[in-house]
Amino acid sequence: MPKTEHWQWYVEEFTPTELHHHAIDETYFAGRTAFQNVAVIRTATFGKMLVLDGDTQSAQADEKIYHETLVHPALAASASPDDVLILGGGEGATLREALRCPDVRRCTMVDIDGDVVELSKRYLPEWSDGAFDDPRARVIVGDALAFLRDDDGTYGAILSDLTEPLADSPSNPLFSRTVFADIKRRLAPSGVYALQASTAGFHNMALHAKMARTLRRFYRYVRSFYAHVPAFDNDWAFLACSDAVDVAALPAARIDAYVNRLRGENYFYDDETHRRLFSLPLYLRRELAREGDVFE
Ligand code: SAM
Repeated sequence: MPKTEHWQWYVEEFTPTELHHHAIDETYFAGRTAFQNVAVIRTATFGKMLVLDGDTQSAQADEKIYHETLVHPALAASASPDDVLILGGGEGATLREALRCPDVRRCTMVDIDGDVVELSKRYLPEWSDGAFDDPRARVIVGDALAFLRDDDGTYGAILSDLTEPLADSPSNPLFSRTVFADIKRRLAPSGVYALQASTAGFHNMALHAKMARTLRRFYRYVRSFYAHVPAFDNDWAFLACSDAVDVAALPAARIDAYVNRLRGENYFYDDETHRRLFSLPLYLRRELAREGDVFE
């Protein structure tokens, strides 16, 4: 074992037999909100990190890989990304990325946990980078479940940046056919719904495949894509769903034109990255083609 001067560790347990240890340099906050356990820490390798219920949500060193991947394929593909809805997204980085697109005239973010939003503003301001103060941002602290039921808006892109639907997570009730139907009702006919959709790791892709199988009942095109996120120690999967556009087949010229119009520079996403994101290994394609569980 390597010698270390660190005495405090955040141990993320993927399964009882697979752990990732992060040496902690500083703990900014550790406690429980009304909805979940929250830790905001600074790790030696990945910098500041938000941890909810023991799961890494994002880390300073590589959050752009995750957030650019969640946001930009969907916005590049949507015919009218002027009104965008984000489900979850407490840190404000999904909001930041959406607002970099000049076509976005309003972006509504609905997160159940006001404490996570406030802790992120206080300790992780690099994530939102001013997005919470953008006049186009509408930040609602509330349950996305109720918002989707009661809202009557139509959105050109819906981005779901929710925690994993584990049994005790407040996101769990959002993974049901009723809620997927509510989301579809809120999506413009030419719109794109993109969601963070669990891991694409060869040993842990069942939940991703279950989401994909369920969503295929709602949309003509349901495409999986993934990026390796080092702080997650995993290949992280997403889904892009639409009746109008096959996001996997977006022409290079359209992606180039979209990226060139974004405010500021991308770190990860461009046309070449897009093609790699949607190019899936055989084991994942096989899993996605298999019959299996769906959300009811
Ligand atoms: N990148 C993340 C990951 O890897 O899972 C997700 C990021 S974001 C921090 C997840 C957010 O979803 C949290 O801020 C949490 O409060 C929010 N959330 C969970 N359940 C929710 C619900 N029912 N309605 C709205 N927001 C919810």
